[in-house]
Order: sequence, then C-alpha cells, then structure tokens
Amino acid sequence: MDTKQITPQELDQQDPLASYREQFLFPQHQGAPVGYFTGNSLGLQPRGVRQEVLRELDDWAQQGVEGHTRARKPWLPYHEFFSASLARLTGAKAAEVVLMNGLTVNLHLLMVSFYRPQGKRRKILCEGKAFPSDQYALRSQLRFHGLDPEENLLEVMPDPETGYLDEDAVVAAIDQNQDELALVMMGGVNYYSGQWLDMPRITDAGKRAGAVVGWDLAHAIGNVPLKLHEWGVDFAAWCSYKYLNGGPGATAGAYIHERYHGQEDLPRFEGWWGHDKDSRFAMPDRFQPIPTAEAWQLSNAPVLSMAPLLASLRLFDEVGMDALRQKALHLTQYLAQTLETVRSQTGIALRIITPQPESQRGCQLSVVIPEQGRRIFDYLTAHGVVADWREPDVIRLAPVPLYNNYQDVHDLGQKMIKAIKENS
Ligand SMILES: *Cc1c(COP(=O)(O)O)cnc(C)c1O
Repeated sequence: MDTKQITPQELDQQDPLASYREQFLFPQHQGAPVGYFTGNSLGLQPRGVRQEVLRELDDWAQQGVEGHTRARKPWLPYHEFFSASLARLTGAKAAEVVLMNGLTVNLHLLMVSFYRPQGKRRKILCEGKAFPSDQYALRSQLRFHGLDPEENLLEVMPDPETGYLDEDAVVAAIDQNQDELALVMMGGVNYYSGQWLDMPRITDAGKRAGAVVGWDLAHAIGNVPLKLHEWGVDFAAWCSYKYLNGGPGATAGAYIHERYHGQEDLPRFEGWWGHDKDSRFAMPDRFQPIPTAEAWQLSNAPVLSMAPLLASLRLFDEVGMDALRQKALHLTQYLAQTLETVRSQTGIALRIITPQPESQRGCQLSVVIPEQGRRIFDYLTAHGVVADWREPDVIRLAPVPLYNNYQDVHDLGQKMIKAIKENS
C-alpha cells in the first residue's frame, strides 16, 4: 500500500467509518478538537452516553426501588444487557462473559478459582515488565498461598534488541517448566510496546503443559479480534475505559470458559449475585452458582457506572470488529509511514518498538526518541496533541479507528517535524 501521494483528506473521504468520528466528543484546544492519541488509556465519550446515564437517573428519581424491575432497562438483570456485545468482542459465548467490578479485582477473583498451586505445580508464568497492577496481583496471589514470588513467578523478559517479547522464548519457557506451571497469565496486547502476542499459540502451549491459561485483555478488547472460546482460553479479564470507551473507572469484564460453569465445588469467592436467579430472593443459605460466568458476580450491578458502556457497545455492534480492524490496520500503517517521514525529513533517531507485522500489533505504536523525546512530547502537548509519555523515552500513540482520522495522524507528523526543527 502506498498512500504517499494521497492526501489525508482523500483518505478520510474514502474511509467507510469516517462518520463515526461525529459520534464522539473531543476535548478542545484553541477552539479545535485535540489530536487525541490516548484512546488506549481513556477512550473518548460517545455522544450517546449522556442519554444512557440520564435515563437511569430519571428512572431512579421516578421509580425508586421499583426501577429494579420496572426501569426502562431494569436494574435487576442490567449486566445482562452487555453480554451479547461483549461476547462478540471477545469471541465467546454470551454465557461466558460478564460485566462486573474492576479489572484488577476480576483478576484476583478469577485467580481464586484458577490459580490453585498443588505440589510442585505452583509457578505462574507472565511477561516481564507486565503492567504494575498485574505484577502486584500475581505476586500477592503467590504470597497469599505462602509462596515466594522470587521463586515462583517466572517472567519472560522482552528481547533487549527489539524491546518486545520473543514468542519462541515464551513457548520455550512454558515447555521447560511444564511440570511446575500452575498458571500462564499474560497481557494479550502489551500496554508498553503495543505487541499483540500470538494468543492461540501461547494458550496451546500453556494447556499442553497442563497449566491454566488466563489473559489480561485491557489493551486487546475493542482493539484486536479475539476468539477466546475457540482458542480454549480458560479465563480472561479486561477494563472498559480504554478502547471500549466506557468512561473513567467503568465497570470491567470477565470471561470464563464454559467448561467451568455450574461447578459447585470450584473454589470461588461467592456473593448473592452469583447465586441461582430463581432462588436468589428466597435467600437460601447455601450457594448455588448460576451456570454461567455470572456465578463469579458478588454484588448487584453498579448501574450508573455501566450505563455509558451501552452507548459505546452499540457503535461496536454496528461497525463490527472486522471493519474496525480493517481501518485500524490502515490507519496505523499510515501512522508508521508518517513517523518514517518525520525521521527522514529531520534525521532524528526515532524508532518504533511495536512489532512491524500486522498480526503482532493492534492500533498502538510505541515510539522511542532518545534524548529529545520528552521535549518533543511537551511540544506536542502544548500544541493540542494528547499522547502518552512513558519513562524513560517512549511516546505511545494510539490512532483509534472508531474516532481518529487520517488528518489527525498527518497533523501529528507535521507538529513533530516542527518540534524537531524549532530546536535545531
Ligand atoms: C489499564 C490496565 C490495568 C488497570 O487496572 P484497573 O484495575 O482497571 O485499574 C491493569 N492491567 C493492565 C494490563 C492494564 O493495561
């Protein structure tokens, strides 16, 4: 694909998803929308969100407790309104997904069921330099079981040459530890490098080793196509405020493969919202799990923190992951070309550390700019570009196919060139 001669305006005109940009609210800088490249951190607000939240406020005001059954979207089964869409996004059955809690909370709850160290099979394998919350969760789970994280957490470090994980090394580490591995838990798309791991291959390797395999999908859901059920993934969890645009602190999600549903003897922290729906209000004293992923719910649905997501998932349902992925590939390729233009026009030592092959990345590119990185980042911020800085020298840029356009990317490139030239 050579888009060099084509203007960004023409690319935007040819983009079948271009109109979706209008469905989102952009922060403004000097009267114009910012160049927003941080949808991987907090997705923008869909216009439809306000109506979803206001409906719940009105139903609460007018109906009080009756809203549990009589609200336009009744609160009692509120979480169920999300299952079909989340199932499409994760490649799961609707019964295998549930919207609940926060991401890190879900990781812990799922590990209660799925990290069961026994005998010498007690190690956890994860990626090196995992997102801090995941590291804390894994280490504290080990300590909770009386195990030393230094001995029992196996971290496969990124290749120092490329800055991302060598999948052969991951599989080799799984094979080498196959008698001692209890759990393989990794980020599907790495938050720092933007690398999308070969999830079916690593899931396979983990299962062959006799381990349980779980994925953190924080940077994967709504970004890359997933087939959790088909891949045989045991469990997964994600947050809803990044690519899913659910709003700050939005309610997170979890996936549990159906092979674990309905098992009363599976260790699990239990609460009344996981109990069989027909007898829940009879308040029996023995827990009987709902035979779906809902069994892992503890509390009733936080309706106000879930409502925004309905507006966003409607857009995902309309567009579908196939079309979204098509645009993401094209837009991210355009960003890569734009960065190459910045490099060649200025001679700056700019390097993309996200893997180049399409199959190994979502829409994010992580860019290392030695020495000048921070200054360029600050210039961009002052000139209406919202990007993300990670110490020591990485700028993360995520052109999000639902609302970013080619003009955003082109303008970013122009501003980077100015930033570099103004300094020299
Ligand atoms: C964003 C992110 C989190 C955030 O955790 P919360 O529980 O939602 O605060 C955790 N892990 C990864 C990999 C992330 O990208």
